[in-house]
Amino acid sequence: MTSGVRSQKPEVRSQESGVRRKPILYSVFCILYPVSCILSLIILLLSLGCSKKPPSVLKRQQMLMGTIVEITAISSEEERANLAITAGFKEIRRLEEMMSTYIDESEISKVNREAGVEGVKVDQELFDVVKTSLKVSENTGGGFNIAVGPAIKLWDIGGEEHLPAENELEKIKPVIGYKEISLDEDGRKLFLKKTGMGIDLGGIAKGYAADRAEEIIKRLGIKDGIIAVAGDLKVFGKRPDKKPWKVGIKHPRKEGAILAEIELSDEAISTSGDYERYFIKDGVRYHHILDPVTLQPARECQSVTIIAKSGIMADAYATGIFVMGPEKGMELIERLPDIEGVIVDKDGKVHISSGLKGKVRIVGES
Ligand code: ADP
Ligand code: MG
Repeated sequence: MTSGVRSQKPEVRSQESGVRRKPILYSVFCILYPVSCILSLIILLLSLGCSKKPPSVLKRQQMLMGTIVEITAISSEEERANLAITAGFKEIRRLEEMMSTYIDESEISKVNREAGVEGVKVDQELFDVVKTSLKVSENTGGGFNIAVGPAIKLWDIGGEEHLPAENELEKIKPVIGYKEISLDEDGRKLFLKKTGMGIDLGGIAKGYAADRAEEIIKRLGIKDGIIAVAGDLKVFGKRPDKKPWKVGIKHPRKEGAILAEIELSDEAISTSGDYERYFIKDGVRYHHILDPVTLQPARECQSVTIIAKSGIMADAYATGIFVMGPEKGMELIERLPDIEGVIVDKDGKVHISSGLKGKVRIVGES
């Protein structure tokens, strides 16, 4: 660039030096040269403008992790957006194959099979997700507990609508302690100390998967979008009109209705609700979030929505705080610096954390 500018100057001067000899030609050149420069600049700018299409919204869905995953990508290059979305789905499938207890060959299934026998060396990612789970368990007073595996199997919500007998639940209570999950950092091994124990990552893996998919999609050049793994969303960048994304919180009791709206960019939002997977028997709702103490569905909330920086945190705390109930749960939200939330309690009353006041718009009160 600089050398080009320099080389032009002597040329102009040499034209200047020929002024008196060819006055007419010179004056025509003097007028035409800048005009042609400006014209070519305008043409260049116009052609640049033409090649850059306005950004469009590309949205695709796939069944993964036992639910519908929807990825939205904003880009002016459709092919790039398509490739990125495909890579996002692939990443979520990779994590499902590692963390699902429904897949016999998954690493977590191997860990569960070796319960009471020996530790199993696992991928660093799985090790870290379990480690984070244990931290969230501590912070939620055991409300979040990935050792609920045997109880989840017994209830089989979404499968047969069967009520486990109290003695069946009593029998498995001794193997529900998350403190019996041992982490061997050096060997990167997970060991479930008691026979019959089982880890279930259903309350945290979807949020984690949304984080990883976002990372991949961004790496492939997409700056704005949403990863929605059912009720676990990771939102990044802005909408095509450059405004923050508007996310709706489902009404827990009116199907298809929105309870509240919130504007987000570069945040995760997760909702745990008793309306996602449930059955009703003799007028009682039995759903998929279990109180690790009673091994019955947690009864204090209809839904808990958590907003956090990462999907893993939003997902795990939504589940754990659902179990804690509205009072203790809101206390915890206020105590944790990076977490905000909206809790709908068992009576349908909406509780909003102080950091969200004025940011959440209630559109359909319970
Ligand atoms: P969803 O699966 O609808 O996104 P959650 O994130 O709340 O909802 O996860 C619920 C799942 O978490 C259950 O299906 C089960 O696999 C697991 N789970 C249930 N109760 C607990 C609990 N107390 N702690 C941790 N995980 C749980
Ligand atoms: Mg969760």
